[in-house]
Amino acid sequence: MEHCEVIVIGLGAMGAATVYQLAKAGVDVVGIDRYHPPHTLGSSHGDTRITRLSVGEGAQYVPIVKRAQQLWRELEALSGESLFEQSGLLALTSSPDFDPDDKSDFTLRTIGLAKAYGIEHEVLDAKQIRQRFPQFAHVRDDAIGYFEPGGGFVRPERCIEVQLRLAAQHGATLHTGETVTGISSDEHGVTVTTNLRTVKAGKLVFSAGNWAGGLLGEPFDRLLSVYRQMLFWFELEPGAGLEGASPTFILTHGRGDNNINYGFPAQPGEGSLKIATAQYHTASQPDLLDRSVSAEQARAMYEQQVQGRIAGVTDKVLKSAVCAYTVTPDRHFIIDQHPTLKHTLVVSACSGHGFKHSAALGEAFAQWCTRGSTDLDLSSFTLKRFEGTLS
Ligand SMILES: Cc1cc2nc3c(=O)[nH]c(=O)nc-3n(C[C@H](O)[C@H](O)[C@H](O)COP(=O)(O)OP(=O)(O)OC[C@H]3O[C@@H](n4cnc5c(N)ncnc54)[C@H](O)[C@@H]3O)c2cc1C
Repeated sequence: MEHCEVIVIGLGAMGAATVYQLAKAGVDVVGIDRYHPPHTLGSSHGDTRITRLSVGEGAQYVPIVKRAQQLWRELEALSGESLFEQSGLLALTSSPDFDPDDKSDFTLRTIGLAKAYGIEHEVLDAKQIRQRFPQFAHVRDDAIGYFEPGGGFVRPERCIEVQLRLAAQHGATLHTGETVTGISSDEHGVTVTTNLRTVKAGKLVFSAGNWAGGLLGEPFDRLLSVYRQMLFWFELEPGAGLEGASPTFILTHGRGDNNINYGFPAQPGEGSLKIATAQYHTASQPDLLDRSVSAEQARAMYEQQVQGRIAGVTDKVLKSAVCAYTVTPDRHFIIDQHPTLKHTLVVSACSGHGFKHSAALGEAFAQWCTRGSTDLDLSSFTLKRFEGTLS
């Protein structure tokens, strides 16, 4: 039987940030993961994740991402690794259904939030988009763009690796390749059982990503759905001139989830542009995910998302990957104390938009463990909002 002050289950984006912050604060922490993070079986792989201060998903996220961007820079200084690249973030809508008064349009929401929060940005018309970003030479005449010069991407695998390494240097105990099979609690603390040991602690942070619903049961198994997503690296056309000259982008080309895609700058030496879209119609089980991408799926992606919309890339897929979102009914996060397990904070895998916030959330979870409150306001992520669904 091992004893410690805090156990963290799951050492992906959220767990790595949490164990790092706890260990840095001098807390005796044990982190447990069924695999060896960073790995390719959860939600935190694929080289790049978008980060932007104007978080079109909602104003509640702005202070979190601001703090996270500071922490990426601190982690870079400590590790010597490049984690956060300010390539600039371009959100644009070029859609036959575009309505300049549509409050649900992602680009318009992003512009509105940037104005409200004084975030540095430019609003671009079609001519400016075409001039400045040749891969969007085909945008419609009524296209609108938002450019955030400080936005860009973070490197998820490196962020996780660096935080776990620093956590271990600060004295964290990390049990990887070890699967949690049971959790119980009483007034004194929590007991976590794995396939190899039992650990007791005063507090537990639960961040098991795609597997959270299966491990926690009610009500999380009903609130969390896992959706398989595919990532594609399309080969650049010869002479496309995009390497070092393309922004991170989010392109809306129609209404609905199927008509939004996003991508990243062409990385030097790779000869490709990473482009993806998200699907929320077919749920999966994390252990049953099909992790291969077929030629047919690659062709459908090119035809529906790339052809005629993003210039400078061919239909040849140089690399692909499968990753999974864990999504709540309103697509916002769940960050709350477990309704029946005592001393336990649950963090959902953040519905496909959590990575950019993870460094700051880890800091907040460490504060919750050490003093029972957080500097960041996390009150909009409670389970209470699903009360109607829970009964
Ligand atoms: C394709 C894709 C694109 C995305 N794009 C963006 C983006 O551009 N910007 C952005 O901000 N966010 C993005 N996200 C979302 C973001 O990546 C996730 O919100 C975040 O990575 C989730 O981190 P996590 O720690 O909750 O999960 P994970 O990183 O998956 O970690 C969970 C960990 O729990 C471990 N675990 C599970 N069960 C057990 C068990 N029984 N015992 C022990 N360990 C266990 C797993 O092995 C895993 O390591 C994207 C996600 C995907 C899938």
